[in-house]
This record gives sequence, structure tokens and C-alpha cells, in this order.
Amino acid sequence: MKRAVVAFAVLLAALVAAYLFRSPLSMMVAKKVAAQRLATDALNDLPDGLHVGLCGAGSPFPDEKRTGPCTLVVAGKRLFVVDAGSGSVRNIGKMGFQHGRINAIFLTHFHSDHIDGLGELMLQRWASAANTSPVPIYGPPGVETVMAGFMQAYEQDKGYRVAHHGEATVPASGFGGKPLPFTPGADGRAVVLKDADLEVAAFTVDHGPVHPSVGYRFTYKGRSVVISGDTKKSAAVQREAAGVDLLVHEALSSPMTDLLRDGAAKAGRTNLAKIFEDIKNYHTSPEEAAETARDAKVGYLLLNHIAPPMPIPGLEKAFLGKAPGIYGGPLRVGTDGDFISLPAGSKAINFTHRF
Ligand SMILES: [Zn+2]
Ligand SMILES: [Zn+2]
Repeated sequence: MKRAVVAFAVLLAALVAAYLFRSPLSMMVAKKVAAQRLATDALNDLPDGLHVGLCGAGSPFPDEKRTGPCTLVVAGKRLFVVDAGSGSVRNIGKMGFQHGRINAIFLTHFHSDHIDGLGELMLQRWASAANTSPVPIYGPPGVETVMAGFMQAYEQDKGYRVAHHGEATVPASGFGGKPLPFTPGADGRAVVLKDADLEVAAFTVDHGPVHPSVGYRFTYKGRSVVISGDTKKSAAVQREAAGVDLLVHEALSSPMTDLLRDGAAKAGRTNLAKIFEDIKNYHTSPEEAAETARDAKVGYLLLNHIAPPMPIPGLEKAFLGKAPGIYGGPLRVGTDGDFISLPAGSKAINFTHRF
């Protein structure tokens, strides 16, 4: 009994001391965390192979688990980003990657939700590592217009940064991005990057009236991923995805979008009701994405560009509908931080979540 009283008194004294010294204690922890975070570079730690992460699994809708579209692709020691939605910069950092090491950015199309994080991403890529040349930005024709706008919008900020930190820290030559437009050929395809180990091909998808709109296929040392971009169910995605290890496919649930449409109509918000009705005709349902995955015989289906959001537990099953019965392989409704590793010289498909 006496012992228990003493133990309780000691515990109480420790808690009081921790409370009284909470400020220096939290600074001590913060010092450790800051040093650890700044030294982290996932690119150095990953095994050789192709790795794909969702730095944004969502759509224009607000969703706690899913920010705007962004897919990170690591091929060996190279770091690429496909689309740069609103949460890209923060999520890439949270996933343990350094923005300064981004080798290139690929855009699927120029809908605002795919480019609204691009300015910040280019800024971090430049300023956090003293890059001396702008980041290559691959995209279909129109990418020059987008880039000219961003360069103009950030021109004043560039001046402030150089004046404040100096040319050695933020070399003016490395500011922004360099647009590299490509045009798919008659077969709807363009190889945009190729060397001994890596091929990146773009292919036209069906997202009308958005023309052009493309998806990408990355192949590295025998491992492969197809990223659908925004599209209706597409024969081109199925063709490109034939036998790939991983298909990252956009998905929109029509029954759930109808709930929003009806709610908007009931509230008298007719413009929103019209938009919620319209968006159904240029996206893919989870069931259709599952059909594509089944028919292309892919190794893993990761859904992204999830719409609408799912704020209530249990909605994922409703979102997927009949999809799990259509595609028998591993299937996941993506969230920010999802990460799939495809090690070179192996058939393994390893899922982790990086935060
Ligand atoms: Zn989109
Ligand atoms: Zn779109």
C-alpha cells in the first residue's frame, strides 16, 4: 500500500515537472524531429525499381484523405511527378521525398485541379536545392501557355527570393519550368522519354471536351505502371495497360454524384446541380475501371482522382459497387500517401502507406 502511494506520488511529480517544463521539452523533441525530417531522402533509401505514390488521390472535391491529383513515380534514382494538384508539395514532403530532386513533371491535361499546385511545386524544386536549370514540364500542346502564365505570375516572387537569399542560394537560371510539348502520333501515342532502362510513353485518352488529354505509361527494368489521367472508360488505357504491374485509374461514382446533384437541386443551387450532372459523362466508374483492369490483366488496380469525397465511414464499399466482383486482383480506393513498390528483377508488388 505504502509502495503504491510512493509510486503514485513519483508519477504525479513527473507529470507536474513535464507540464512545468513543457516548453523546453517540446523544443528538445522538435530539434530531433527537425533534424530527422531534413535529413530524410526517400530516394536514397528505396530499392532499385519502379515505385508509385499518391501525392494526391482526390479530385476538385474537398476530401480529408485526398487532395488534388498528383502521382509520384520513382524509376531507380529518378523522381517524376504526374500532375500537380493542390496538395502536391506538402504530400511529397510528407512522403519523405525532397522536392529539389524532382527530375521532371508530366501533365495529363490542363484542368485546373491538375495544375493548381504547380507553381508551388516548381518554386520548392528550385529554391530548396539551388537547381540551376528549370524543371522539364512534359505535356500535350498547350503546356507552353500554362507555363507562360505560371512564369509570369511568379516573376515578382523570383525577384524577391534572389534579392533576399542571393544568386548562389537561389540561382535565377533554375527558376520555374521549361515546357516540353509533345504530340501523339496517328496511333495516339508518343514516347516522351527513353533511355536504356526507362521509357515514358503518353497516350491520348477520352476526356472530351478536354482536348488534348493523355495518360502515361512508365516502364523501368521490366516493371510497369499506367496512369490513366482523366478519362471515360478508354480502349487506349486498356491497350496500354495490357499486362502492366500496376494500373492507377481515375474513378467517379455516379450514384454518389447523383446524391450531390439532388441535394444541390433541392437547395435551389441549380448551377451546381448542372455541374454534378455534367461531370459524370467524362469520367470512369469504379466498375468500368475494374473491367479495364480485368481485361488488361493488370497486377494491381489503384483507384485515384476519387470523386465524390467520402466523409462518412462505410462509403468505400458503396463507392466500389460491383468492382470487386469484376476484377479479381488487388484493388484499392487510393488515399494520399499510398505507395506501391515494384522492385527490379522481381514480380513483387508491395503496398505501404508513407504517412
Ligand atoms: Zn481532374
Ligand atoms: Zn479533367
